[in-house]
Amino acid sequence: MSANFCLKCGTGLEFRDMDGTMRKACPRCDFIFWGDYSVGVGALVIKDEKILLVKRAHNPGKGYWTNPGGYIEQLESIEDTIIREVEEESGIKAKVKGIVAIRDLPRNIHNLYVAFEMEYLDGVPRPDGVESDEAGFYSLEEIESMNVAPFTRWLIQVAYHGESKGLMKDNDPVVPMHDSILFKV
Ligand SMILES: [Zn+2]
Repeated sequence: MSANFCLKCGTGLEFRDMDGTMRKACPRCDFIFWGDYSVGVGALVIKDEKILLVKRAHNPGKGYWTNPGGYIEQLESIEDTIIREVEEESGIKAKVKGIVAIRDLPRNIHNLYVAFEMEYLDGVPRPDGVESDEAGFYSLEEIESMNVAPFTRWLIQVAYHGESKGLMKDNDPVVPMHDSILFKV
């Protein structure tokens, strides 16, 4: 992935040595092209030993059952994003318990995926009719015979059999850190 023009002012980018790495930078303003990245978030909501899954209505992954999730926005915390995505895709209100897995995909657009374990609060599963066309809580036995996406299958295994309690949000860090949302073991 590359860029030829400044995303802020449109000037042609030039290579600049940044701590030993040549990066494309704008000669007129402070813009530096660091690369192309995206961050995905996903939820593992378990209720009465059953896990919340939605069926994808469109490609990529049309027809596959996955855990609900989405991509983060510039100024939205990952916690707010996953709460919103779960409610939008499945109608379920849930709250974050911790981070249970991370997937790193270094490729054209470097993707980092953060998987949350969430506690069911309220609601009956219903698809949004856009991204998902079915939604529900399913037991491990039921999941066996469903067309579950491989990555979701892996996450379900982690959620049920993970030995650590995952990363918990630190709401009262010993050193106040403005604007940082901290998670700890
Ligand atoms: Zn510029």
